[in-house]
Amino acid sequence: MSQIKAVRGTRDLLPPETELWNAIEATARGVFRRYGFGEIRTPIFEDTQLFARGVGEETDIVAKEMYTWEDRPRAQSEKAQMLTLRPENTAGVVRAYIEHKLGDTGLLQKLYYIGPQFRRERPQKGRYRQFFQIGAEVIGPVSAGSESPLRDAEILEMLATFLDELGVRGWTLELNSVGSAEDRPRYVEALREALTDVAPTLCVDCQRRAVTNPLRVLDCKVLEDQEKINALPKMADFLDEDSRAHFAAVLGALDACGVPYSVNPRLVRGLDYYTRTTFEFTHGGLGAQNALLGGGRYDGLSEAIGGPKAPGIGFAIGADRLVLTLQAAGSTVAGDAEGALLDVYVAPIGDAQQSDALVLARELRRAGLRVELGDGSFRLKKSFEVGNKIARSIVLFGEDEAKSGIVTVKDFKTGQQTKVARSELAGILRKT
Ligand code: AMP
Repeated sequence: MSQIKAVRGTRDLLPPETELWNAIEATARGVFRRYGFGEIRTPIFEDTQLFARGVGEETDIVAKEMYTWEDRPRAQSEKAQMLTLRPENTAGVVRAYIEHKLGDTGLLQKLYYIGPQFRRERPQKGRYRQFFQIGAEVIGPVSAGSESPLRDAEILEMLATFLDELGVRGWTLELNSVGSAEDRPRYVEALREALTDVAPTLCVDCQRRAVTNPLRVLDCKVLEDQEKINALPKMADFLDEDSRAHFAAVLGALDACGVPYSVNPRLVRGLDYYTRTTFEFTHGGLGAQNALLGGGRYDGLSEAIGGPKAPGIGFAIGADRLVLTLQAAGSTVAGDAEGALLDVYVAPIGDAQQSDALVLARELRRAGLRVELGDGSFRLKKSFEVGNKIARSIVLFGEDEAKSGIVTVKDFKTGQQTKVARSELAGILRKT
């Protein structure tokens, strides 16, 4: 029979790597809590229209990369609904914000999420078809201060703190303003015009983008195109007074916090909903897929999907890429190799001791120790071999030990073997 494998672009995350994932997620939860965020969990699939209208029909994500299918109608008279595995989580969060009328509180909503996203991209290192994002959104009515540039700066400062706490060194923050909903069309028009002459000399992708989505030309990575693209009109020259002041205030607040950044006038990002501030944190160690996380402001998204005016700003961290970065740096956030070992291997001597040994393991586990229970059919030599691979110490538990209440413990590192009263075992193991 042919072997069934994980689908292209998806992968299994195994221990001990999952320890690192857990450590990253725990750090994220801890940092987000300190900044007043609460967790939201939205469905993995949504109505396709949410992404078509939220993310934008012209984006690569919606045009090419979504996993979409027609649901089976419940009744013959019913129209089949088109469903999509979420390619990102911001649209889902904003849908939930609208659906649960969270804006009626009059307060800013600060929500974070952790979960898988799906895009049919060409898989390579750091780019998968199922990948994981850790993201957060700040959204609310204008009266709650949701448009304030301080919210942008706070989010960026929080991200810098998160990366610092994880021990990620050498990150770079690039940011830009893509202007308001009024500024953007004027800029796109100017870009389109400038591209009529330039586009035919650019790469084939750019030639296509020049027609479908001119902003995406600014994302081009082809070396020969760079000079010509740098000479195209700049978004900064099309910002109105308000957007200009907003961006200046964001930069000023970052300066005040001492968060380092550089302004990249070409940073437009792949989702249509962005307005004003857009940003990306990159890391040199990641190679071609160097974006660790990205985000920005989306002042018109709620209205685009049928909600009230609710400006917001958010980001999504690529957890897969964060793991790659930390692994490459030899991170110890998830503990060192020795910390991955269990505290003790309980080795029953003989089948008859199996259930008594389970009781001993239960006592030790209840005392908070990490315990593996051996197999009574193993010879002593095999118990020692297995125990040595997975635990720091071994406890031998035979008929004599069960009767006397005195067990033999061996510490694998020191080689020391001692006899210990069962009642004192947990305390002693905890200290070694
Ligand atoms: P986006 O939702 O496109 O703004 O992406 C935010 C972050 O998610 C990026 O900076 C990446 O770190 C990560 N990301 C996006 N697409 C993928 C993918 N296909 N595989 C792995 N990570 C991804």
